[in-house]
Amino acid sequence: MDTSKVKTVIVIESEVTRPCPVCGERLGGSGEDFEKSLSHALEKHDYALLHVGPLTFRDDRDDLIHGVIAVCGSHKTFPPRPARDKDKPWVFGVK
Ligand SMILES: [Zn+2]
Repeated sequence: MDTSKVKTVIVIESEVTRPCPVCGERLGGSGEDFEKSLSHALEKHDYALLHVGPLTFRDDRDDLIHGVIAVCGSHKTFPPRPARDKDKPWVFGVK
């Protein structure tokens, strides 16, 4: 894929879920959820995998969290979806 022509990206993280920017399905999570999310972006919306690698950050208790992040890109643009309450990102471990 020619990355200079990428117009939209989907970021998938093992420690955070967020809505798919195309259809609103919740993406992200660890293990099988991460795999399903990646398949969703690649197969359902024809995104290409641009990057996958480790993700490290500190949570609200200052504990070091390790995860995985994947960035998928597309040459297409999609109309913006109206925001919904359940679209708010949710970070694992944060109360
Ligand atoms: Zn989707």
